[in-house]
Amino acid sequence: MTNEVVVAGGGFSGLGAALKLDRKGHDVTLVDEDGSHEFIPGIIDRIRGRKDEDVNILELDEFLEDTAVDLREESVTRFVPEEDVVETSKGRINYDDLVVALGGVTFEPFELGDGVEKFYKEEDAERVVSRLDSGDSVVIVGGGYVGIELAGELAESDHDVTVVDAATRPMSNSRDEVSRKVVDYMNDSGIAFRGDKRVEEAHEDMVIFEDGTSEEGDLVVWAGGISANPVVQECFDCGRQGMPVNNGLASTDHDNVYGLGDCADTGQIKTAHNAMTQAGVVAENVDRSGSEELEQLSEEKKIIDLSLGDTGLFIFGDRSYKNPVFRYLKDVVRFQYFVRIRLERLAAKYL
Ligand SMILES: Cc1cc2nc3c(=O)[nH]c(=O)nc-3n(C[C@H](O)[C@H](O)[C@H](O)COP(=O)(O)OP(=O)(O)OC[C@H]3O[C@@H](n4cnc5c(N)ncnc54)[C@H](O)[C@@H]3O)c2cc1C
Repeated sequence: MTNEVVVAGGGFSGLGAALKLDRKGHDVTLVDEDGSHEFIPGIIDRIRGRKDEDVNILELDEFLEDTAVDLREESVTRFVPEEDVVETSKGRINYDDLVVALGGVTFEPFELGDGVEKFYKEEDAERVVSRLDSGDSVVIVGGGYVGIELAGELAESDHDVTVVDAATRPMSNSRDEVSRKVVDYMNDSGIAFRGDKRVEEAHEDMVIFEDGTSEEGDLVVWAGGISANPVVQECFDCGRQGMPVNNGLASTDHDNVYGLGDCADTGQIKTAHNAMTQAGVVAENVDRSGSEELEQLSEEKKIIDLSLGDTGLFIFGDRSYKNPVFRYLKDVVRFQYFVRIRLERLAAKYL
């Protein structure tokens, strides 16, 4: 059966789902607030100018031209699942099925002071670079993959970097072996790590820890994790992990609503890789009639390609490998991604 499907969000999960649903013959409306699709893992390459700005961005109006996907450059302000309606900055859109793919935002456990930077979008990377002079000191809050990648790039560009974290080791969500390799890299590159330090206040030039001590820097960057998009949290009454969904990515509360990517509590780690895989599962399940069993998410394999300045650490399941070749693998992955999404667009257009 052909349905009117609204896909909210044109990122990794939303764009993938929209193209697949279009190909399956559904009437798809894609709502994205800025009309561009960003390859977020690539923003790290803007710090040292390794790549041009354009390399990470797809303008959705051009990209979707000639497909049947109806792009609406509007901001989603509210979901009203009881009425099958999405409210946007420009009006109301009705749907038969809704795919919620609004992604995440930086997790802020308290209000950050003015001038504290974040690192989530291309524009954040540009601002961080524009505010630094050679030799400046930077305090990065968060020793997860976002904070560590940024630390590496800033250290390689002559900045004095300190990473602080409430955990006792960097990359604390990974195995000890990964943390050890990252610590070795940080020691070799002169990046300081202060673990077991929970930040209570973050200001433009200083963070204050709960034990009353502090760390000063010319710039403070907050990389303390992510949180589901606030519109999703509010409308689906959920916490920072996002909209509750079952293993077929259908909402646990509304039959015709699906959630995926960084705004849904899928039980998987929140990566672009998983968001893309989830897009396939959602497209398949929207296409099935009510009585059919939902396709299930398959077990995830942890895959992270972490840049460490001029080298890289590839984490695959329980194993990890450090080698400069994995720094270049990031370029290959981006290239492969854009080829893949263009092929999906061609399939939507011609098949
Ligand atoms: C610095 C950084 C580095 C990363 N590196 C990696 C990596 O190396 N490998 C990896 O696999 N993952 C990486 N990730 C994680 C990855 O980027 C995310 O998991 C992925 O982007 C999630 O996809 P998504 O579709 O859920 O959300 P997104 O890709 O963020 O897409 C959300 C979309 O929704 C739109 N939107 C938001 N709010 C609204 C609204 N109110 N109305 C309309 N539209 C809206 C946005 O414009 C955006 O287009 C990284 C993340 C960060 C921040």
